[in-house]
Amino acid sequence: SPVIVLFRRDLRIRDNGALAAAADSDRPVLPIFILDEESEGVRPIGAASRWWLHHSLHGLQKALNKAGAGLVLKRGRTADVVEEAIKVSGADTVLWNRRYDPAEAAIDAALKTSLRDKELVARSFDGALMHEPSLLQTGSGGFYKVYTPFSKALESSVEPRDPIDPPSSVKGWKGQLEGLALDELELLPTKPDWSGGLQESWTPGEDGARRRLREFVEDDLSDYERSRDIPGKAGTSGLSPHLTFGEITPFQILAALKKFHGAGAAKFRKELAWREFSYHLLFHNPHLRERAFRPEYEAFEWHRDAKALKAWQRGLSGYPIVDAGMRQLWHTGWMHNRVRMIAASFLIKDLLIDWRDGEQWFWDTLVDADPANNPASWQWVAGSGADAAPYFRIFNPVLQGERFDPGGDYVRRWVPEIAKLPDRFVQKPWEASAAVLKDAGVTLGETYPSPIVDHHAARDRAMEAYRAVRSDD
Ligand code: FAD
Repeated sequence: SPVIVLFRRDLRIRDNGALAAAADSDRPVLPIFILDEESEGVRPIGAASRWWLHHSLHGLQKALNKAGAGLVLKRGRTADVVEEAIKVSGADTVLWNRRYDPAEAAIDAALKTSLRDKELVARSFDGALMHEPSLLQTGSGGFYKVYTPFSKALESSVEPRDPIDPPSSVKGWKGQLEGLALDELELLPTKPDWSGGLQESWTPGEDGARRRLREFVEDDLSDYERSRDIPGKAGTSGLSPHLTFGEITPFQILAALKKFHGAGAAKFRKELAWREFSYHLLFHNPHLRERAFRPEYEAFEWHRDAKALKAWQRGLSGYPIVDAGMRQLWHTGWMHNRVRMIAASFLIKDLLIDWRDGEQWFWDTLVDADPANNPASWQWVAGSGADAAPYFRIFNPVLQGERFDPGGDYVRRWVPEIAKLPDRFVQKPWEASAAVLKDAGVTLGETYPSPIVDHHAARDRAMEAYRAVRSDD
């Protein structure tokens, strides 16, 4: 009888413990991908992620076909799909790689129990994370709330294993389990098709992930520490969507970094540890996207301002660095980390809009929308997170723009209507004289918005609102 391998956020054949074990078993293999949006508590993935998933599945199907097996595509509750697959195929073994979103982990835990109750074999493997969030504990037996001790514990207790070789061949099961055609999963946008910018920017799938890693290590790693904060440069790896969909694992990335000992590689490892930290927090706080980590923040009186939220989403806030980021996000499904912080701070602190609204927008528009990194980062910016930015740290979007995009390359690229402004006004068009604006073809309020809030007034307002909920000062 065949061995079933479930695919979810692990769309790769390399360093895939479940697939390797199935191939090694010398039995026929039945790989199944399940789009489960129906089981209890599951958060449906956003529109940009759906686009990514479609293309990634296409790549995985090709790779599995080449290795000798197919990939059956299914939609529905995981438990139902597995039950049907066992019934049709007679499989007595089901293997998968672990996932850590609380609802999804619960589905898998229940599946394991029910399979074992029926005396079937159910086994799960690592791959998404370097560490098992349930195993890494503080001295007093709790979980880590602060990044630095977490990352030290991670470093000293986890020796990253070597990546697992891809199976040279996978003996496909010859029977028939009815699945959907890729198009029938209906993951791509139809009308309007907004995916052109995503298409230009990315190559979803394992091959694309491996190419990104290789190019990053060759071209950008040595200077990463310096250039990672400059949004106008392509100085970061762009691996986030590949990691989120499990097209590449941290073990593969660490293996590629092994021979590099400079500051760039050290910083890059630290960023990967931030990802591990987010998952650690999510595992121990299953409601991370719904509730403030610090309970006193639940009393915060957020403004409900649909018009301001929309201006932020569309990149029409009147603050160039914020608008550039939001438009990069809309066009490419990705935003530079520095600008994510600035744009998020603007929504939360300048507009006093609930961080959950921002998290939801990112969830829908990011190709790397991640169940752990997204809510953990939003809470970090909001100040309500575990190891969060202090509440009084309110990014000034003009100073941030001047510091990290000094020549205005990034702003000019994404906000072309103000591209002709001289450097010293490109982050603050409202300070330019009428003559300078005219020369640059800018009419504030018409060709580009005037700021929707005054940052200095907004800052004072935010400080007051934050002080009202803080219990510690
Ligand atoms: P690189 O600089 O090349 O870093 C390599 C990898 O390290 C990344 O792919 C990522 O997995 C990890 N990493 C880097 N920075 C962080 C960080 N600050 N926190 C956690 N992990 C990190 N990242 C996501 O993967 N998905 C999200 O949904 C997401 N939402 C965010 C929302 C906000 C408001 C903020 C401020 C940050 C968010 N991040 C998110 C973190 C970070 O911005 C992205 O991981 C990073 O920009 C991805 O680009 P890269 O792969 O080129 O990063």
